[in-house]
Amino acid sequence: MDKIRLSPSRVGDFTNCPALYKFRAIDQLPEAISLDAERGTLLHTILHDLFEAKPTDRNLETAFSLIASRWQNQISAKPELATLVADEKEWIDRISSLLSTYFTLEKPMEFEPTHREIHVEMDLSDDLYLHGYVDRLDIAPTGEVRIVDYKSGKSPKPGWEDKAFFQLRIYALIYWRKHGVIPKLLQLIYLGNAQVIKNLPSDQDLISTEKKLLQIGSEIREAIESDKWPTKPSRLCDWCSFKPICPAHKI
Ligand code: SF4
Repeated sequence: MDKIRLSPSRVGDFTNCPALYKFRAIDQLPEAISLDAERGTLLHTILHDLFEAKPTDRNLETAFSLIASRWQNQISAKPELATLVADEKEWIDRISSLLSTYFTLEKPMEFEPTHREIHVEMDLSDDLYLHGYVDRLDIAPTGEVRIVDYKSGKSPKPGWEDKAFFQLRIYALIYWRKHGVIPKLLQLIYLGNAQVIKNLPSDQDLISTEKKLLQIGSEIREAIESDKWPTKPSRLCDWCSFKPICPAHKI
């Protein structure tokens, strides 16, 4: 039996809507381009490449100078983007504004990231493989580890922060299991509304994350074996590429 490959995104898909998970992960159906996702990709690329510059050059001017070439690379890889982005100036202005916000939240000239866009992975059980890409992982000279994720949207409403940290707890769990060290700090940087939220994970947090992942893995296995993929309509349906073929939305 093939291993189930789980990333934080796929976990989110299954918990939000098993049918969405099936369309995306099992059937691998093509999806419409999401401009929000593409904006996030461009932003992540620029923030990644910003750290190629020497510390004193990691300023807003350098970040702005990266926009045009990284955007052109993105269009070359996905030419449809050129027509989907109707107003290129507005698009670039929005990216510039998000980058300006970034510099109000961090001072990239004052620290050296240890890893950027690092792939982390582990076998959680015999049939469950867990992996993901960490935006940034900083290891202090004292050995303390910080896991950082950039978000181009807005921070969660009060009471929803814990759900937002689930993704970073998965990365922290993998790091802990691989290196025997629990990351000291998880940090979500929301550029959409200039907020940074932080969490100090405990071993109990990561153990309960592991239990939850094993539970989700077993639910996915059951769904595969029974070929039952319930729909879970919610406001996310309005952004779902599969709405036109979704049984929950048949007229
Ligand atoms: S449209 Fe809604 S219910 Fe249907 S697959 Fe997408 S998220 Fe699930």
